[in-house]
Amino acid sequence: MTDLLVKDVLLPDGSGRMDVGISSGRIAFIAPSSEGGREAAEIVNGKGGLLLPGFVEPHIHLEKAYLLARMDRETESLQDAIQMTAQMKNTFTAKDITERSLAVIREASRHGVTHMRCHAEVDPILGLSAIESALELKQSVSRQMDLQVVAFPQEGIFKCPGTAELMEEAMRLGADVVGGITYQDHDLGGHLDFTFSLAEKYGKPLDYHADFSDNPSDRAIVDIARRTIAAGMQGLVSAGHVTSLGSMPVIEACSIGELLHDAQIHVITLPLTDLYLNGRGDGEKPRRGLAPVRLLRECGVNVTLGTNNVRNPFTPFGKADPLEVAWLLAIATYMGGGQDAHSLMNMLTVDSAKALGLDSYGIHVGSPADMVLFRESSVREVLLNRPEIRTVWKRGKQVAHTRMKQQLL
Ligand SMILES: [Zn+2]
Repeated sequence: MTDLLVKDVLLPDGSGRMDVGISSGRIAFIAPSSEGGREAAEIVNGKGGLLLPGFVEPHIHLEKAYLLARMDRETESLQDAIQMTAQMKNTFTAKDITERSLAVIREASRHGVTHMRCHAEVDPILGLSAIESALELKQSVSRQMDLQVVAFPQEGIFKCPGTAELMEEAMRLGADVVGGITYQDHDLGGHLDFTFSLAEKYGKPLDYHADFSDNPSDRAIVDIARRTIAAGMQGLVSAGHVTSLGSMPVIEACSIGELLHDAQIHVITLPLTDLYLNGRGDGEKPRRGLAPVRLLRECGVNVTLGTNNVRNPFTPFGKADPLEVAWLLAIATYMGGGQDAHSLMNMLTVDSAKALGLDSYGIHVGSPADMVLFRESSVREVLLNRPEIRTVWKRGKQVAHTRMKQQLL
């Protein structure tokens, strides 16, 4: 007997109205609704709405979310945001970290996120408390979210003595990914030596915060790409921000784009933060300060997008909804067409899944039933409406169902 039948839904491949059957948490069959006559323990009528695979959030910070009430002034720059947050980190407790992290996970889950990669900060201020919280949450929320934990040296590895030892300890504790940050240590070569060797030692992928500026001479991503190729780690390295490429002459950005394609680097654009913090030094005609999304995609680079921060000095916005981020990116990168909507939805789903190295992802027979159902019938409508009403399943179990209350006057 089928456990769950989600009937009369449209899939992103445009294959017409389908019934999707789920057994033991996996998709057991996908068949045209016109065939009819199927039974299941539970039946949900999709009424022609779009069924997407669960969103994959490739880059988010949990322990420093929801800090607006603790800020006594607004942020002036990236370095200012780092310093303001570092001061607040002194007051974080384990309970506080876990409560705010859980609040983000709940919001993301309600919005259809079923997989998430979080960057947990490792430094002498927090010690291992953020990593320990994230690793505990990875277990305790596993029925609603698959969480990957990055050991992330926000304050720099060498700039903040003691961090290197803590990074090693974080990997021993079970962190899934080695993190790095190219703009916090002066010695880029040393930073890359350390992070690549840690990744090699523990057999883990790498995920950098890289070239977060509008300075065209910031090109750490070139060194990351060359080392990736030299280490044979193609496809296992991601880089968030990479905004300095957006300030370069197109011919130079293209040449780097080709290198990133060869190294199979996944670029994660973070528009909520990038648009808010970059371009401030320009005085007049401020630049947008985004990675050149279209150009990189045309070079064949896997470009995805993430939330990064939720309501803190880096980003005083956000509600952990990938559709909000995609909608903003669509406007900022002139991606307003019907085909663009498909590209953006792929970035939130299959492209992010690729960046996170997820196996068996998507609405396919045999895949885990991680799905989000909309009332809208096309990806373009979903992107334009960013609807509150969504039904979310994780491994075939419903984890969220948002209704809309409406009172007609
Ligand atoms: Zn980040």
